[in-house]
Amino acid sequence: MQDFHLLIVGGGPGGMAPLLAAHRMGRLGHLLKLGVGIVEKTDSLGAGSIGGYAINSDSSGRTFTDCLLSDEPTEVTRLATHPVTQRIAAAGDGTVSLRDAGSFLGLVGEALACMIQDEPASAVLTRHSAQKATRVQNGWQVEVFDELSGQHRVLQARHLVLATGGHQPVERLAREKVGDLSLVEIAGDRLLQSGDVLTTGGLEKVAALLAGRPSPKVAIVGGSTSAAAVAHALLFRLPSVTFAEGGVTLLHRRDLRIFYPDRASALAEGYTEWTEDDVCQISGRVFRLAGFRLDSRELIMQVRGLGGRPPEPRLRLHRLTADDAAARRIVDEADVVVAALGYRPRALPIVGWDGAPLDLLASTGPQMPLVDRECRVLDANGRPISRLFGIGLAAGFVPSGPLGGEITFRGQANGLWLWQHDVGSLIVKAVLKKADKPGRPASRHAAAQIMSKTPVDFTAVVEGV
Ligand SMILES: Cc1cc2nc3c(=O)[nH]c(=O)nc-3n(C[C@H](O)[C@H](O)[C@H](O)COP(=O)(O)OP(=O)(O)OC[C@H]3O[C@@H](n4cnc5c(N)ncnc54)[C@H](O)[C@@H]3O)c2cc1C
Repeated sequence: MQDFHLLIVGGGPGGMAPLLAAHRMGRLGHLLKLGVGIVEKTDSLGAGSIGGYAINSDSSGRTFTDCLLSDEPTEVTRLATHPVTQRIAAAGDGTVSLRDAGSFLGLVGEALACMIQDEPASAVLTRHSAQKATRVQNGWQVEVFDELSGQHRVLQARHLVLATGGHQPVERLAREKVGDLSLVEIAGDRLLQSGDVLTTGGLEKVAALLAGRPSPKVAIVGGSTSAAAVAHALLFRLPSVTFAEGGVTLLHRRDLRIFYPDRASALAEGYTEWTEDDVCQISGRVFRLAGFRLDSRELIMQVRGLGGRPPEPRLRLHRLTADDAAARRIVDEADVVVAALGYRPRALPIVGWDGAPLDLLASTGPQMPLVDRECRVLDANGRPISRLFGIGLAAGFVPSGPLGGEITFRGQANGLWLWQHDVGSLIVKAVLKKADKPGRPASRHAAAQIMSKTPVDFTAVVEGV
């Protein structure tokens, strides 16, 4: 039975993040010597699902390439001169296409895979899917299915990280109400989920559904980054569809907040709907976690008439209330309804010491997180499960204290930069059982000089209505 110090299930951007954090901290070599296994369903590491979205990133080019930095030259730092990296780095504080981001993360995954495979105690298990994890003495036993051999195998690990990404479960959709009626019942077969719409095929499907309509109408239910991304994609990525005034409506419950890099620039644009509680006390950024960024930010500013942006009459906002006849009418009249309700963690079936399935907190309610503020997976009673960590899309990690963020933030912070830095470091430190000195700045290796020296920031893909 293969035995690892650390086993990561899911080799997407979330699964790579603790390794990139260790790389930045100069601890990756040590960790790999102890033994790291990665179980990934597909045939490669790094990209996960991010490159499949036909939209631009809401984090900057710089936040992606920052993960290459480390004190020592490695396979990863060498990527700094790769043309894909340079294309992404050239975007600076601007957006990049998620397809490019996916290619870049695929390269990072390849480089990490080389480093892992060079270490006899470590292994990359692609085309393997984890089926369940059972708590045993000194850690976990994970049953995996090897797609190539068609065999089931059992792996042993002292520490286990779930980085299996997120999904948009239909059951979650079934609970969503518009007014006092079920969204599924009102929208019927006109209803799509944001994750499906934001792919190239998904946008083509929407274009086909709207073809020939003299005045096409789309209702988007959600106040998250995904909801704004859907609105942006509909308005700017469907050349065959012409929306009239109010053709797209965003129905939302939460306030639509705007990110500003600091208080002064918010005030300079007359943006005053924040207090000190909405400012990250570490970085001074306004709505660091809750604020829309880049393309979505511009669109929401336009439609809200903020910062002197030109109006965007094709998009209308509607604030959902309890008994909302107007919302019902908007959904009724829409040709297509898009639910942008966020993501839930996929996780993995977990079996306890006693051989009985162990329910997770995340399964007890639609807003419940998978992890606590130390990335530890929580059981149904909210207690951390020993040696089990979670990271990545929909894990529900909320930064606090030295990690920054505004104290008024509610939701999920789904940003790669955060996972590759502070969040990944939490896991690395716990797994190495030694507190690395926090805040030790990574010296920028010569090969990585194309990156700017000003500190980058993470983005938060905030999910929810
Ligand atoms: C529309 C959208 C736009 C986004 N834009 C940005 C952005 O601009 N910037 C940013 O920082 N973040 C962004 N994110 C958030 C986040 O970075 C991405 O969602 C990213 O893909 C999440 O990585 P992940 O590894 O958690 O999940 P995934 O990318 O889904 O990867 C999960 C991996 O786990 C594997 N897996 C799953 N289950 C198993 C199993 N049982 N056994 C083995 N392998 C398994 C999968 O094959 C996959 O490779 C965005 C998210 C969305 C939805």
